[in-house]
Amino acid sequence: MVKIKELRTKVWTWIGPTVPPQDNFCTSATDVLPSGEDSMASFRFHQWLTCEVIADNGMVGVGNAALAPPLIKETIDKYLAPLVIGADPFDYTLVWERMYRKTHAWGRKGIGMVAISAVDVGIWDLMGKIVDKPVFKLLGGRTKQKIPVYYSKLYSDSVEAMQREASKALEGNFQGFKARFGFGPKDGMSGMRENIKRVEALREVIGYNRDLMLEAYMGWNLDYTRRIIPKLAKFEPRWLEEPVIADDLLGYAELNRGPIPISGGEHEFSVMGCHHLLHHRAVAVLQYDTNRVGGITAANKINAIAEAYQIPVIPHAGQVHNYHLTMSNINCPMSEYFPVSDVEIGNELFYYIFEGDPEPINGYLDLNDNNPGLGITLSEKHHQNFTVTE
Ligand SMILES: [Mg+2]
Repeated sequence: MVKIKELRTKVWTWIGPTVPPQDNFCTSATDVLPSGEDSMASFRFHQWLTCEVIADNGMVGVGNAALAPPLIKETIDKYLAPLVIGADPFDYTLVWERMYRKTHAWGRKGIGMVAISAVDVGIWDLMGKIVDKPVFKLLGGRTKQKIPVYYSKLYSDSVEAMQREASKALEGNFQGFKARFGFGPKDGMSGMRENIKRVEALREVIGYNRDLMLEAYMGWNLDYTRRIIPKLAKFEPRWLEEPVIADDLLGYAELNRGPIPISGGEHEFSVMGCHHLLHHRAVAVLQYDTNRVGGITAANKINAIAEAYQIPVIPHAGQVHNYHLTMSNINCPMSEYFPVSDVEIGNELFYYIFEGDPEPINGYLDLNDNNPGLGITLSEKHHQNFTVTE
């Protein structure tokens, strides 16, 4: 029997060049704070955590997390590693419950669950490598020939710049396009009109035969969202994402009874947390993030629950662990895809730390049936642009 021998955590801090974001590139939950505070800073993240799960047979699975990496590292090193070392990785349910229940008083949501997620993703990668199968083959196997992906960038900018980006993205034949709003309650009616103008401009470019998703990243409030929805509805968005802060469950439920489907869940945690969103019909599309929600063990359970509610799951983030879960569940119709770019927001860092991520072709991506585990490895290519703390 293979046993877990060691967890090795690393914080990767990007010190290479970054593209400064334009003003009003995306609303966020900090927009209600007094002006003058740098709300953009809280949105960018230029650090990542990797967690190598090392087995006593020399095999290594790699998990990761992107939120508050130094704190996640500390949590794994001090609290989780002793609970995991010595375990059989195939006892992943017990290992998960041990991590969850022994940190329950302070874990549950946020830092504690992100740390559990990073370890759990590493355990699944390791299991795949041990049995020489891709992770999706351990989760339920292939449910689709390939995964449709939607293009997720289009940060708010001038109308012309957004139309240019959308035209360029159309060449990739993506099934849908997600754009970010730049204006919220503090920008008044003129800001609301700026938001609408951009949605209209994007529809001009992509037409109505492809999906347009709209994202507020928790930067609005309930009143503002109620007022803008009737003005947005005629542009037939596939969904409106995170209009209000993640804790406003009842706000989500109210909005989701309106004319535009509401999506969310990337800031929700655990099986129970996602169950509450489903039970209250608070979202029409559930978007948990695997490396926050509790890893692949939790995400796979949530997939089953969402399937029973017939609420589709389209996980947050174009990262390979999400693709395996999407491939293996019939209730996951497509994946988010972050285009590879210079380092800007931080979403792109995944491509600089890992290699082996599948690239979309003609709007679809596929997973290799013969690549064991998650199919990615830590890359050496960009080492000069990182400081790595072990
Ligand atoms: Mg989002």
